[in-house]
Amino acid sequence: MPDLVESLKCPQCGGPLTLGPGDVIVTCPYCGSTSRIRSENPFLLRHGMLAARLDTAGATAVAEGWLDGGFLKPSDLRRASRITSLECVYIPFYVFEVDVTTSYSGVLTRTGSNERRSGSVPRDYFWKVLGRRGSDFPTREYKIPLAYKVPFDTAGMVRGSSFLNAEFDEDEAARLAREEVEAHERELLKDAVDEVEDAHSEISVKDTEFLHAPVWLAAFVYRGRPYRIIIDGASGEIVRGDIPPPTGGVGEFLKDAGRSVFGR
Ligand SMILES: [Zn+2]
Repeated sequence: MPDLVESLKCPQCGGPLTLGPGDVIVTCPYCGSTSRIRSENPFLLRHGMLAARLDTAGATAVAEGWLDGGFLKPSDLRRASRITSLECVYIPFYVFEVDVTTSYSGVLTRTGSNERRSGSVPRDYFWKVLGRRGSDFPTREYKIPLAYKVPFDTAGMVRGSSFLNAEFDEDEAARLAREEVEAHERELLKDAVDEVEDAHSEISVKDTEFLHAPVWLAAFVYRGRPYRIIIDGASGEIVRGDIPPPTGGVGEFLKDAGRSVFGR
């Protein structure tokens, strides 16, 4: 629907909205309000963001600190590396407050006695779903720091940062969250029983939040090969850093190490 897409205006301030392919939830660059498109009428969505504590200098310092050493890192990592790019991207997440009770029955075989077990385990989660398709962002490794949550405000964004809209809406995100929570609960059952005979998770999604989180993406080159570091721009923590293998043994398996975080 390219024609429709180009003519879209922000329902709040009337400003023109620029959409990327696949964008469904769009934030207005003028007033900062967020709306869902591809419905009869765009409607406004509650929207938050995480306040950034790192500017470019701060993010550079964190990246250099990470290069400076640590478990399994080559001893010359900092000295032989060059940071080639550093950018701040606001990434869309849906965060669901989820209550789940998993009832199960099964058999514990690890003791050698085939002991029958059953139970009902309640848990609650803040479960996050990245609002982009085909992304290789390490969502499960990222502990979204909700303590830094503030109402969305374009004035509070990192200068020069880029911004990603969401490619699916909160209904689809909620479906994904349920599926993922259920799969996660199944995984946890492996601690309780070795053979699951019956299991059922009662899942209730209590609250939904759509928010943008600032993430710094650093690329660096070490001995001619590209790597990346992902930094949580709100907490200042490293989300993930690629650790080069010991020098001398760089093989073809690294050929895609420099691919884009977002699969672009
Ligand atoms: Zn607007």
